[in-house]
Amino acid sequence: MTKYIFITGGVVSSLGKGIIGASLGKLLRARGFSVAIQKFDPYINVDPGTMSPFQHGEVFVTDDGAETDLDLGHYERFIDTNFSQLSSVTSGSVYQTVINKERRGDYLGGTVQVIPHITNEIKSRIIKAQKSFKPDFQIIEIGGTIGDIEGLPFIESVRQFKTEVGIGNAINIHCTLLPYLPTSGELKTKPSQHSVSQLRSYGLQPEILVCRTSKPIPKTEKDKLALFCSVSKEAVIECRDMKSIYEVPLALEEQKFAEVVLKLLHVEDKKVNLDGWKDLVERINHPKDTIKIAIAGKYTKLSDAYISVVESIKHAGYSNNVKTEIKWINSEECIDSNKCKELMSDIDGVIVPGGFGARGIEGKLNVIKYARENNLPFLGICLGMQCAVIEYARNVAGLKNANSTEFDENSSTPVIDLMLEQKNVKGYGGTMRLGAYDCHLKKGTKAQEVYGTSKISERHRHRYEVNTDFIETLKKAGLVFSGMSPDNMLSEIVEIPNLDWFVACQFHPEFKSRPERPHPLFKGLIDTVVKRKLSEG
Ligand code: GLN
Repeated sequence: MTKYIFITGGVVSSLGKGIIGASLGKLLRARGFSVAIQKFDPYINVDPGTMSPFQHGEVFVTDDGAETDLDLGHYERFIDTNFSQLSSVTSGSVYQTVINKERRGDYLGGTVQVIPHITNEIKSRIIKAQKSFKPDFQIIEIGGTIGDIEGLPFIESVRQFKTEVGIGNAINIHCTLLPYLPTSGELKTKPSQHSVSQLRSYGLQPEILVCRTSKPIPKTEKDKLALFCSVSKEAVIECRDMKSIYEVPLALEEQKFAEVVLKLLHVEDKKVNLDGWKDLVERINHPKDTIKIAIAGKYTKLSDAYISVVESIKHAGYSNNVKTEIKWINSEECIDSNKCKELMSDIDGVIVPGGFGARGIEGKLNVIKYARENNLPFLGICLGMQCAVIEYARNVAGLKNANSTEFDENSSTPVIDLMLEQKNVKGYGGTMRLGAYDCHLKKGTKAQEVYGTSKISERHRHRYEVNTDFIETLKKAGLVFSGMSPDNMLSEIVEIPNLDWFVACQFHPEFKSRPERPHPLFKGLIDTVVKRKLSEG
């Protein structure tokens, strides 16, 4: 029987509820339990696919092509399980379903209301995910902060659901912040007390409090929180700021977080195996060297916009016992090639990640040209691959006017063009080539070597592709097409064979990297950088 764990947040936003939920998921998985997750986001967008990375950070993509909140990435990385469309629920998608039903006449003339129609739809999403994953534990994180008007239907649904499944089958973990006042040297508990009383005013009593704090919580304050928030003393869990997010599960395990959860849900504890994770944290905390990898993109002011790319770089670093310092390069600054050279002079490798639109493209092309001409290890992702192909076409294959029709609709040499199935697509939201597709790797290529297999599956999110009309010309000029779709129509990976590491892919490898299992393409990049450093002495 599935047990349900709801996670809410209070006091401030950006508390890291996602990391706390993902850490609990890890601790349960490390005991051999199966875990599914759901993220409820109270905004009206149907999904985050149409939201700007500047505002909302990265759009994460699942195997089945859902465009989701970046927290799903943390959940997949920590729990090491692939989730699906059912894991991502927004107010927009809930209302869309209910309104569609209303238009179809399903409500037989009744008045359609938040309670019960919206709340019933929210509860049915919980059940649908349960039926699909059949997990031992289903962790459901409610986005936003308690008291947000738009979050209320979700909170009411949780209240009803908890009542329906009964005591011992569902709990609510409430995450809060204990602000530290340096003048009095105190951690303050009052905001947490207030946020719990607000939660109670909606009929929800938390069973566990997880308190974010910069300092250790004195026992007196923990006891106070327990007493005034009506939770047991052992259920007040401290979550200190950590150097690495991957330390959080271990810090929570030390406080018996999972044991408290299991006890409240009447499940017998099992032997926990965190050996691999402890080894990972050991490597994170004791790197032998530091390398500097640049990310040259357009959303460099908000690192969350590339969070999976950053995590994937780190994973590949951990496996090499090195710390990876990220240098953010704003591609627009690289339009001046001297500035570009200057910005790239102190880096060990560079990634040009995914993106949309023409802004900063000429800068990205300069970055790639520099990497190619100076044998600097390079990984291009999605738009990064499209730019690598344009750069190669212009500067090596002699196609001076090569471009993508995304940047110049009337390009005379559209080496990158809209995919056939995209030509008649109208509207945004879920209309790109999304989710997992198979790819065949060519023997003897770098890609095939690092994957160690000839058939892979990777996640996509794009509209444009390499134009097949130009493949022969590019091949003749030396570009190797090392990964193709099974029907040989879509170019998925390209590489330049005589450079140390110059590989670019049309898909997003960053969505499949795991802390204990770095993605082959990121590993290929970082392994090359580390090997070169070693040989330089
Ligand atoms: N803008 C490009 C396309 O739509 C690349 C997309 C991406 O990098 N995710 O094909």
